Amino acid sequence: MLPYEIIYDTEYTTGLRAEVAAKFPDSGPRAATHLSDLLYCLLKAWGKQHIPVEGWHGDADHPDDEGDPLLSWLQGLQFEDLVSKGERQPARALCFKCNVVSAVGGEIGPNGLYRERVHCPVCGERWLVATPDFIVDEIVHESKQTRKSQRRGPEDAPWWIEQLAGYILFRRKQAAASARDFHHWGRLVVNWLMGDYGSRKKGLKPRPPRSAIDAFKVVFPPTDAPWQDWQEELRERKRITEGPDRPPLDMVRSPRYPQFECSSCPVGKPLRCPAWIWDDEGNETYPFGVPGAPQLTTAVVVDPTRVTWTEDARGLVEVTEEKDQ
Ligand code: SF4
Ligand SMILES: [Zn+2]
Repeated sequence: MLPYEIIYDTEYTTGLRAEVAAKFPDSGPRAATHLSDLLYCLLKAWGKQHIPVEGWHGDADHPDDEGDPLLSWLQGLQFEDLVSKGERQPARALCFKCNVVSAVGGEIGPNGLYRERVHCPVCGERWLVATPDFIVDEIVHESKQTRKSQRRGPEDAPWWIEQLAGYILFRRKQAAASARDFHHWGRLVVNWLMGDYGSRKKGLKPRPPRSAIDAFKVVFPPTDAPWQDWQEELRERKRITEGPDRPPLDMVRSPRYPQFECSSCPVGKPLRCPAWIWDDEGNETYPFGVPGAPQLTTAVVVDPTRVTWTEDARGLVEVTEEKDQ
């Protein structure tokens, strides 16, 4: 082997990162309520609508060991481009009051800049915006690139199913308005990125990293009633997200995935959310990061092996740390 030296190329790295960032400028927080806001923690969605962006807690000072979220997102876009067959879809908006889906269009926002339209131009209500990945032969397709377990499949990602159901709800309305064909099922196209996360620890032969593609048909009921219920559910989640009252950490209505949402939540800290359990250096400050964190009204399991939750007569939850044995 020849002698060699490895030098981190700071200048080139900086330039490259700047180029990538310039190609995909941060458009800032979205003005309208988007379907994806309603598929995860509603307290987070509420916080993002009610706390000015300057008050959000960013990770700029603590670069993520696992890489830049922008680049992970770009990888997902590249996969979408690779498997897309139809046209890239424009954003659509559902006005719950008019019960109609229309093109979103733009408007001049309060700061004088052009932005996506937030309100229905007919009735003035805030509407719900959604952008499906691609549609082929009237079938909604959603592509996903993930490090989740291939073995556990899409059943393990209910938010994918809800997203598809959201897009199909929009399609149903468009189809009804134009008497077009309509399919009550959609397709998930998944790229599983598999590393070998546990074998070595378990004393097994490590496997090389692999990648696989699977497609799934997700079939929903053809009848109207479940779609009506789903529309009402989305309408209620939207009302909670936009309303003045801070929503509780409700595991029933607010779909919440602490395993991936909380640590990157930009409003967990300013909201003093009990599930935000890190100090500014990223250390876990068990039990609840911020002094004076409000009591929960519904139990949230941070680490079920370490916490016992009991609901008292007033519906508040007491948190007891399990003592070390
Ligand atoms: S920290 Fe977690 S539970 Fe709290 S608001 Fe953010 S995503 Fe929701
Ligand atoms: Zn309207």
